[in-house]
Amino acid sequence: MKYIDEYRDNTLVYNLVRRIKKISKKEISLMEVCGGHTMSIQKFGIPSLLPENIRLISGPGCPVCVTSKKFIDKAIAYSSMKDVVITTFGDLIRVPGSKSSLEKEKANGANIQIVYSPLQALQIAKDNRNKKIIFLGIGFETTSPTSAAAIAKGYDEKINNFFLLSSHKIMPPAMSALIDEGVKLNGYICPGHVSTITGSAIYEPIAKNYNLGCVISGFEPTDILQTILMLVKQFENNEAKVEIQYKRAVKPEGNVKAKQLLDEVFELRDDWWRGLGIITNSGNTLKKKYEAFNIEKVIPVDVTEPEEPKGSVCGEILKGLKTPKECKLFGTVCTPSEPIGACMVSGEGACQAYFKYNK
Ligand code: SF4
Repeated sequence: MKYIDEYRDNTLVYNLVRRIKKISKKEISLMEVCGGHTMSIQKFGIPSLLPENIRLISGPGCPVCVTSKKFIDKAIAYSSMKDVVITTFGDLIRVPGSKSSLEKEKANGANIQIVYSPLQALQIAKDNRNKKIIFLGIGFETTSPTSAAAIAKGYDEKINNFFLLSSHKIMPPAMSALIDEGVKLNGYICPGHVSTITGSAIYEPIAKNYNLGCVISGFEPTDILQTILMLVKQFENNEAKVEIQYKRAVKPEGNVKAKQLLDEVFELRDDWWRGLGIITNSGNTLKKKYEAFNIEKVIPVDVTEPEEPKGSVCGEILKGLKTPKECKLFGTVCTPSEPIGACMVSGEGACQAYFKYNK
């Protein structure tokens, strides 16, 4: 299969592993901050190929996992209102809120529809002018431009029944917050998809201020191994710089048009991350010009601060302080079919990745 097989070629994989083993002398901990990388690393058994001194840690890169319970509770509160339709990506409906989930509310009759893009949600709004259509915007710099595009289009077309409940987040503040919290790392495997939008400069302060190598990686086994090789080389040479391994998709300047759209529609706000709490300037909210699309401004709802389920260590998993197998609920009461925590719900969650490939 063109563009896949060549990145899974066994000879290339073993050559990279040989090179890593040859130059890696010191203990090194590398964190991947992208749920797609977490899945690939487990699926292709990358940890089993590496020497013992190299430790891979999963970070807070799964958008569903870091979304707060409070956000789910708010979405549920809106879903109970008359003439409201909640539109959302599929993974999110299974995430437990404090008392229910969107999936359960849907089964109980709430109007909750799964969509594949915010533009599809906008179309639902155009087709149902007597209803309020709320799109649940989650995810990082990868998904926020599509929400921004839907809002800008809705504004241009004067659509007044389309709204966003935003939990869109920015990745670099979380990467800095982890180090500030004392999580011990020697390098970041930086997210591939996020970086296609942002470019590479956003990681420069992390490399400089924390003396950590940052390499933007693709998702195939040879991509990830080459990224590890680049990070190990930097570490062994006492260097800390930003490099792009995933050059076939990521340009240093990123996607300029998408960044302009983000700047037009969103502004930064402090946001809450599961496991990490409130991080300054880590979330996107709509600018004043687009306030009529911000459901929290149009119809404010108040929900109480929920607690994490007893026995779960989702927060520590997202900080890389524990592995899924260290959670007492893993694989027993918490499974992909009966998830207790968000990291088991999402197809990009560390617990689901471990459950599927490393149980
Ligand atoms: S096993 Fe379940 S409860 Fe435990 S950390 Fe993972 S998702 Fe959270």
